[in-house]
Amino acid sequence: MKRRRPRVVIVGGSHAGLLTALVLDTLGCDVTVHERSSNKLVARGAGLRIQPVMVDLLTSVGIDLAPASTFTHRDRHIGPDNRIVHDVPELGHFVSWGSLYRFLLERFGVARYHFGETCVGVDQHAQGPVVRFSGGVAIDADLVVFADGISSSGRRLLLPDVRPVYAGYVAWRGLVPEVEVSQETRAVLDDACTFTVAGLSHMPIYPVPGDDSAESETGRLLNFIWYRNVEAGAELDALMTGRDGVHRPYSLPPGMVRQPFIDVLKREAAAQLPRAAAEVLVKAPLLFIQPICDLLAEPMAMGRCVLIGDAAAVTRPHVGAGTTKAMLAAFDLGEALQRVCAGADFDAELASWSGRQVALARDLLERGAMMGRRAQVEGTWKPGLPELSRITLT
Ligand SMILES: Cc1cc2nc3c(=O)[nH]c(=O)nc-3n(C[C@H](O)[C@H](O)[C@H](O)COP(=O)(O)OP(=O)(O)OC[C@H]3O[C@@H](n4cnc5c(N)ncnc54)[C@H](O)[C@@H]3O)c2cc1C
Repeated sequence: MKRRRPRVVIVGGSHAGLLTALVLDTLGCDVTVHERSSNKLVARGAGLRIQPVMVDLLTSVGIDLAPASTFTHRDRHIGPDNRIVHDVPELGHFVSWGSLYRFLLERFGVARYHFGETCVGVDQHAQGPVVRFSGGVAIDADLVVFADGISSSGRRLLLPDVRPVYAGYVAWRGLVPEVEVSQETRAVLDDACTFTVAGLSHMPIYPVPGDDSAESETGRLLNFIWYRNVEAGAELDALMTGRDGVHRPYSLPPGMVRQPFIDVLKREAAAQLPRAAAEVLVKAPLLFIQPICDLLAEPMAMGRCVLIGDAAAVTRPHVGAGTTKAMLAAFDLGEALQRVCAGADFDAELASWSGRQVALARDLLERGAMMGRRAQVEGTWKPGLPELSRITLT
């Protein structure tokens, strides 16, 4: 270690990058974040479930996520004709992609968050890594954290053979203001995280904060994810080619999905989904698509570079743990760095950190793949089965 306060360069300034930055900053590191986008990030996603352990960890560093959150108190499944087939008490804690991003950026501040910096390389020297950015900027560090998502530049440089594997289905996602759906639909979805299964597809719906992060009734948006099977190859490639003719393999953003696909989706929603679920989808002004993938980088620490968030492992969304996994990894990394500052061996600490993260990611991957198979392949997803409940991370 070159300095008493470890100098940490974080590549990627989305959820994983910002969570890591906040945690390491609080634990005494000297942190900067370098984000490829030249502006504040917008509309990257819709809703996210937050696990209780993430709330606890954030609280321990003085961060209260409640103002950026919505809560539900029932776990509900609906069938044809909006019939409620399962309804039990369960606390659901949700954020919107934007509410969490704005909240984390506000706390970290923009003084050490550099926009418009794309990492193009990293050199590992005996005295520490040097990260290179487009435009010729090079920064030396004690540790580089790659939090640069599913197509991570760091992972491509360090583990070029590790790539996302398509799971055979995509997530159609969207948001609709709660006030725009009918009274009947609001009553069916009221205060619940609601699921519906239709053939070999399934769909969760839950409320997230609106743009102003207000938890007021009128400010909330209904977030939905309709998981639908799409064959790999020509069918998937056509779907993932946007209005501008560009093929985007991992995410087609709002406004880019071609109209004929939206027309088919809305027709099939009306025919296949319970009325409440169909209404939410049909009324969504903008839809976007994310193909569901599995990815596991092993190891997650190479020299003085580590991978965090989707750069390290992409787990199926059914486990509702992607962001929490990043948070746990960030805390664990912070504690490892504290031990290094107190004299522990840097390489050994990073190797054992990597082992713990790989083990957790493997569990989440297995659980998510099983849940996806039950819903999308076997059609054996039934409400209330304990093996299909979401994992609660600790
Ligand atoms: C359908 C769906 C539902 C989900 N639901 C949940 C849920 O309920 N709960 C949950 O916890 N998780 C959920 N997830 C997972 C969660 O969305 C992701 O795990 C999380 O958002 C990943 O964040 P990230 O910061 O790792 O990656 P990203 O958000 O992809 O961010 C990567 C950042 O790195 C930047 N970048 C890329 N390359 C470079 C470079 N070379 N130089 C500099 N910057 C770069 C990008 O611009 C971007 O800002 C869901 C995922 C999907 C697909």
